[in-house]
Order: sequence, then structure tokens, then C-alpha cells
Amino acid sequence: MSERKPSPFKTLFEAEVATLIEAADDVYQIRFKNRAANAYLVRGSKRTIMIDVGLSTNYPSLVACLDHLGVTPEMIDMVVLSHEHLDHIGAAYHFHGTAYIAAHRLAANKIMLRDDFSMLRKMFNEPNVPIDIDIWLEEGNLIDLGNFRLNVMYTPGHTSACISLFDQDKGLLFAADTLMPGGVMGGVFGSGSIADYIQSLERIKGLNSKILLSGHGRLSDTPQDDVRIALQRSHALLEDTAQLFDALDARSNFEPIMQSVRDLNKLDD
Ligand SMILES: [Zn+2]
Ligand SMILES: [Zn+2]
Repeated sequence: MSERKPSPFKTLFEAEVATLIEAADDVYQIRFKNRAANAYLVRGSKRTIMIDVGLSTNYPSLVACLDHLGVTPEMIDMVVLSHEHLDHIGAAYHFHGTAYIAAHRLAANKIMLRDDFSMLRKMFNEPNVPIDIDIWLEEGNLIDLGNFRLNVMYTPGHTSACISLFDQDKGLLFAADTLMPGGVMGGVFGSGSIADYIQSLERIKGLNSKILLSGHGRLSDTPQDDVRIALQRSHALLEDTAQLFDALDARSNFEPIMQSVRDLNKLDD
């Protein structure tokens, strides 16, 4: 068995529940020691942004990590949310009034309507504080930070509302819960779909990515390997769900649903 080579990424600082790691020049991972997703700081020549911010309870450690870099929360111009899950976005309300908050339009809709089921509020036990989305993103938008140009890619599957950000020149891929180191998958939640997931991974496979900055786990300098493994796993998952569907004798379960469709067809009689 081959051992993994030592991490090329440098740990800069330890806060109470977070570790600050340098991913590239002016790009930092804030990796929390609890269930919160990773947060990222990208310090551009014109604008400074964060990509995801973790749980609201971790906010003091997030601020401590920023402080180590000489960055105050007021210096953040924009917070981009990768999708609607609260382990990624819980602390976003702390940036109200000082930073623009952006998310894919489907995530923005769920967050603005306070769709707690989609946001997994019970699961993360977050306070019921509204989060306002200022900018609704779409596939093809570009976030220009001066020396970083982040392309917004719509990559649904984990949920219906996932985005990834990709800097083509630097090969930086912020893939949140769509792709993780070692090809670990983020799971398929209520609004997601395994078929969408596969299509998103196929798109990611076509990128010349060099560093993978995921929603969970370590940084990876082998994104091509990671996406290849994730694609294998996602195809296996697709087969498993097809078998499960057969095993459940789906026809009897669908009968009441089909009946209601037939009833709807009769409405005009
Ligand atoms: Zn998620
Ligand atoms: Zn997550």
C-alpha cells in the first residue's frame, strides 16, 4: 500500500475550533474542528471574498483566523454561498450590512423563504435567524477580484442549488459538497439527483484544475484523481438505487400517486 505524500499546504494558525491553512497565494482554508463546513478566504487585488462561512457558533474562531491574516470582517466585500445547507452558511448573517451575500438563484430562493427542511436547520441546531441574499447567481456569472477571476458553474446533484467556482488561470476549484478529496461524495439530498450529480462531475472532470478546495476535509492537489474516483462511485450509486427501486416493489408504492394523477386528468369532465 502506498502512503500518501506529505501535505504541500502550510498550516498558519490554530484558533479554538478552527485551523487556518494556506491553499495558494492569497487563498486560505479555514477548516473547522466540528461539523461546520470549510470556509475560504480569497484576497484579491481589487476585492476580498469568502466562499462559505461555516456555522454561526464558530464565528469567533472564523474572526480569529481572519485576524491572523490582518483581515477584519468589514474588509470582506462578498460572501458567496455554495448551496443552502446551514453547515456552510450559518454564520452568513454576521456579514449583513457589510458584505454582499451571493448564492445560486435556487439556493437564494430557499434561503429567502426560510425553507428550514432544505437548509437542514434541525440537523445543525442553528438559531432561526434570517439570512438575506443580495445577489442571485447563475451559471456563467464571473466574480472578478482583480488577480482572481472566479467562474460560477452550476453543479447540481448534492442539492438542486449547488455551485462550484473555478479560476481557470490558477486552476483553483472550489467544489463545496460536489467533489471532495479522495473522491468522497457529498450525498444526494431532497432536491438533488444522482443523475445531475454525475453530469456535474463530468463537467468538473473537463477542467484543468490543480487544487481542489472542498466543503469538507483537507485540501487536495490531485483533483483529477479525486473526480475520477467520484465518478466511479456515483455510477455505482446509480446502479444501487436502481436495484433498491426494484427491491421495493415500486409499482405498488406508486399506485396511489398514479391514481391521483388520473384523478387530476378527470377534472374537466
Ligand atoms: Zn451540503
Ligand atoms: Zn456540507
